[in-house]
Amino acid sequence: MPFISVPTTASHDGIASPVASIRGLHKPYSIMAQSPMAIIADTSVIAQASHRFVASGCGDIVSKFTSVNDWKLAHDLNNEYYGDYAASLALMSAMLVVRNAETIKSGVEEGVRIVLEALISCGVATSIAGSSRPCSGSAHLFSHALDVIAPNLALHGEQCGVGAVMMAYLHELNWKQIRATLRKVGAPTTFDELGIEPELAIQALVKAQSIRPERYTILEERKMDSESARSLARATGVIE
Ligand SMILES: [Zn+2]
Repeated sequence: MPFISVPTTASHDGIASPVASIRGLHKPYSIMAQSPMAIIADTSVIAQASHRFVASGCGDIVSKFTSVNDWKLAHDLNNEYYGDYAASLALMSAMLVVRNAETIKSGVEEGVRIVLEALISCGVATSIAGSSRPCSGSAHLFSHALDVIAPNLALHGEQCGVGAVMMAYLHELNWKQIRATLRKVGAPTTFDELGIEPELAIQALVKAQSIRPERYTILEERKMDSESARSLARATGVIE
C-alpha cells in the first residue's frame, strides 16, 4: 500500500525505511515492504517533542558503525552481497551525529534537522541495499532480544545505542567515541540508564544472535555465554 510518512519524533530510522517491523508474535520479524512515496517532516513540530526521542534517534544512528562492520564480516566470511554505497551512506549518517553532538544536545531545531536527515539517509541506505543490512546488525539483535526479554522499558534507539557501544568493542572500533557521543547527546549508555535489570540485559546479549540466526554478525564469531556477556558489559562500562 503506498503511504506518506509523517514523523512527529526523530527516535528511530523507520521514517524512510522499506522494512516493516512486525511485533506481537513470539519474536519480532522484519519484513521487506516498501519505502514511503513521500516524507513530510516538520522540524518545528519534531523539535517540540521530548529530547529523549532525538537522543534515541542518535542511538539508532551510531549503531550503523557496528552494523556496517557486521555486514562487511558477512561479506568476507559468508560471501554475502555488500554494497559500498549503501554502507557509506549509513556510516556518513553516524559520523554526522558524532561530529554534531554538541548542536544536537542543545535541543535547537538545527540539531533536530541533522538527526532527522541522518535517520532518513539510513532508510535510503536500506532501500539501496535491498535489505536492512547497512542499518541493522549485532546491536539491533541485542535490541530485538531485549524486546523479547524485557519489553517496553526503553526505546528502540536507546537500546541500539547501548548495544553499539558493546558491539563496537567486539569489532575493535572506537567504542569510547560512540559512548562519548551518546553521553553528550543525553542518550543512555548503561543498563541502569535504560531502566533494564542487568541480569535481563545479560540474557539478551546471550540470546541476541539466535533472534535472527541467518543474519551473520560479530556475535556469530564471538559467541556469548553469560560469563563473556558480563565481562563485555563490564569492559565497556555498561554495567559497573
Ligand atoms: Zn533501528
